[in-house]
Amino acid sequence: MRVYNTLGRKIEEFTPINDKEVKIYCCGPTVYDFPHIGNLRAFIFYDIIRRTLLYNGFRVKQIMNITDVDDKTIKNSKLRGMELSEYTKIYTDAFFEDLKKLNISEFEGYPRATQSIGAMETMITGLLSKGYAYKSNDGIYYSVSKFKDYGKLSGMSLKETKSRIQNDEYDKDSAADFALWKTWTPDDGDVYWENDLPKGRPGWSIECSAMVFKNLGESIDIHAGGIDLIFPHHENEIAQSEAFTGKRFVKYWLHSEHLLVNGKKMSKSLHNFYTLRDLEKLGFDVIAFRLLVLDSHYRSKINFTLDILKKYEKTLDDIDITLKSYEKLPKGNKKGHEEVISEILNEFKKSINNDFDTHEAIKNFFMLIELLNEDIKSGSTDNESSEAAMLAVQKMDSILGVIDRYSVPDEVIKLAEERSKLRDSNDWAGADLIRNKIKEKGFKVIDLFGSNYTIIKNRQHGN
Ligand SMILES: [Zn+2]
Repeated sequence: MRVYNTLGRKIEEFTPINDKEVKIYCCGPTVYDFPHIGNLRAFIFYDIIRRTLLYNGFRVKQIMNITDVDDKTIKNSKLRGMELSEYTKIYTDAFFEDLKKLNISEFEGYPRATQSIGAMETMITGLLSKGYAYKSNDGIYYSVSKFKDYGKLSGMSLKETKSRIQNDEYDKDSAADFALWKTWTPDDGDVYWENDLPKGRPGWSIECSAMVFKNLGESIDIHAGGIDLIFPHHENEIAQSEAFTGKRFVKYWLHSEHLLVNGKKMSKSLHNFYTLRDLEKLGFDVIAFRLLVLDSHYRSKINFTLDILKKYEKTLDDIDITLKSYEKLPKGNKKGHEEVISEILNEFKKSINNDFDTHEAIKNFFMLIELLNEDIKSGSTDNESSEAAMLAVQKMDSILGVIDRYSVPDEVIKLAEERSKLRDSNDWAGADLIRNKIKEKGFKVIDLFGSNYTIIKNRQHGN
């Protein structure tokens, strides 16, 4: 496997620190609102990292944090008159629902910031005693100039980082210094901890470093996030962690690109801001969003539009119909596709192993689907080809995760059986009545060859 390491900005051969288990940390959501589809793009990428490693036989320990205390969660919970934990639970639950809907695999853990305060205190205390951190009136800050490698991930010099951060309202020695701990203010209400450190709460970046340290250890293989996290978040994580342990924090830094909507950065004021719930309300199959994301390389920008999403939804329906037809195809004279199929599968593996190139991998997947369509047109396949094809589909989908999107309710299956019988007895009017009943239930019957049929969802989009 080859991966693009943001640290060093080049493609490298992937060799884990410990060949028995790959340790991965992914920056998760701040649970102050529903994730938007740009956040979800990063989460889908985390899933692809996992699935690709498993495909290659690695064992994986992967965690994604949940930031459930920060300025925004505190502010919004107060506005709604709710306890912080009560408020963040709403969006934590929503986040897990979204993961499930997008067929994102379950990871080994989802540590919460509020349940990892002890590890943060240990790190901050250590950084204070080593001289990397200092106390001021409003908190404890990390002294960026003390860490000589600061800027090695983002490629920014200390001078540049200072000009990027114009913040005079805090009491710190240098503009680039960042808060490890924020002293309690009345605005924080009952959100504070006071054990080893003054009454207060953690800064953002220390949360991730401490959760890596607590759950995965001092050095890990992969740390992933969206590209906007490179600076300052991940730069700060490196500074804190490496100053604290004296060891290399992360071997491979992986970052996924932005998702634009109608060519622009998403923002609520531009009305181009979507959550998964918005897409569902518009009647979309959210797995079409997964396919749309995977059809671009994770390091390319994606331009999302509803029309493009519709196209992917149609593609998924077509794939469904092909697979259903192919399953029912009579097995006749030998077609001998096994070799072509195994070649396509090899190319697929090469693509995903080439820096998770799902764009190329999907081309291979479509090539296979096309081959099946040719057989369907010709009216038959053979046992060997069929077995090879089904195995290839299964293996490819163990990465892509776009097949088996929903199950059809029993009552709809029964109606379709009834309709099929009526058609066999040439009762076309009766069959049409049932077709409409099925439509009312949100599905439609697609007739294949002979008396075969399949049932797919009947999509209707509002805009
Ligand atoms: Zn993070």
